[in-house]
Amino acid sequence: MIYFDNAATTKPCAEAVAAVNDALERFANPSSLHKLGLEAELIVTDARETVAEALGAKAEEIYFTSGATESSNTAIFGAFRAHGKRKNRLVITSVEHPATAAPAQLLEELGCEVIRVSPREDGRFYAEDIAAAVDDNTFMLSMMLVNNETGYILPVQETFSLVKRKHPYVLLHCDCVQGFMKIPFKVKKLGADMISLSGHKIHAPKGIGALYLRKGVHIPPLLYGGGQEKGFRSGTESVPLIAGFGAAVKKLSPTVKERLDYVGGLRDRLARKCSENGFSVNSLPDASPYVVSISVKGLRSEVLLHYLEKRDICVSSGSACSKGKKSSVLGEFGLDAVSDSTVRVSFCADNTADEVDELIKQLTNAENDLCKVK
Ligand code: PLP
Repeated sequence: MIYFDNAATTKPCAEAVAAVNDALERFANPSSLHKLGLEAELIVTDARETVAEALGAKAEEIYFTSGATESSNTAIFGAFRAHGKRKNRLVITSVEHPATAAPAQLLEELGCEVIRVSPREDGRFYAEDIAAAVDDNTFMLSMMLVNNETGYILPVQETFSLVKRKHPYVLLHCDCVQGFMKIPFKVKKLGADMISLSGHKIHAPKGIGALYLRKGVHIPPLLYGGGQEKGFRSGTESVPLIAGFGAAVKKLSPTVKERLDYVGGLRDRLARKCSENGFSVNSLPDASPYVVSISVKGLRSEVLLHYLEKRDICVSSGSACSKGKKSSVLGEFGLDAVSDSTVRVSFCADNTADEVDELIKQLTNAENDLCKVK
């Protein structure tokens, strides 16, 4: 099986699986005061330190959650509850993942003014356009680092720095799900107050993620209860999933650059062979190489996806989350004309050049078999 759907989810690495199994054995509640409880707490502490170090953050700034959806919901609803009485505007981009777009829409229904900044005609975002949407009435700006459908890298650092200068009290949130452990960044340089992370996109299990909350930023929690995670995220910690997350980060952290170069080579090979064979590459050349949007003219996404699936190649049509629904994101990037014929190829460092060649071979076969009228 050739797996090219790593933006949807990744295969857990051996280190993560071993850490999960080990933590399942050391099953005590990390809040318990006996020595088994302490042992479980140490697993959580170790993972927290690992995630913090990878981000260039402090351990106390990392809160474990059930995934990036919870992290972003916590950030957005928390920011609104902390500041929404005095300020009414939320700024996001028009290409956010539903984990950001849906809470923003709910706030809009509750009376918030939500500004969705679009890219320019060239399919690119400009920091000054996004910053210009932030005014004195804005409580939060939330934008993603890497788009999950095209790999486009948004100018987060430049935008946050412009906004911080003019509006220092606006909370800055970044969905870093498709960037974490894939493209190098550190929280200080990025300038974010809050960052959402997801475990299952980086070879950790599903159901675990984190919210980075810069020291000094105060928002209320989403979940109330036993006061775990310093009262910010109640609920008994999922020690095995946290351990798996930590183990995956520990493994990947030293090789971010190396893997980026390797995956860049796969993307370049795919792009070159696509253009040799007349297939379009919709992603921009400076996008993250981990996500490549391609189209075969005259072939609908679902048809192509199932053709490839029958030949043991897994890709996705747009994003996995937009199952059955047409995503508006490709249209926002100016790709409306090809959006019905787009498939997303998303890599990890386990993929190989031979797999890329096999994909190209099968795309060519698909075109010959299915595109009778050209
Ligand atoms: N943000 C982006 C950019 C994503 O790609 C995803 C997952 O597809 C999410 C957020 C949601 O992450 P999770 O599945 O951990 O809730």
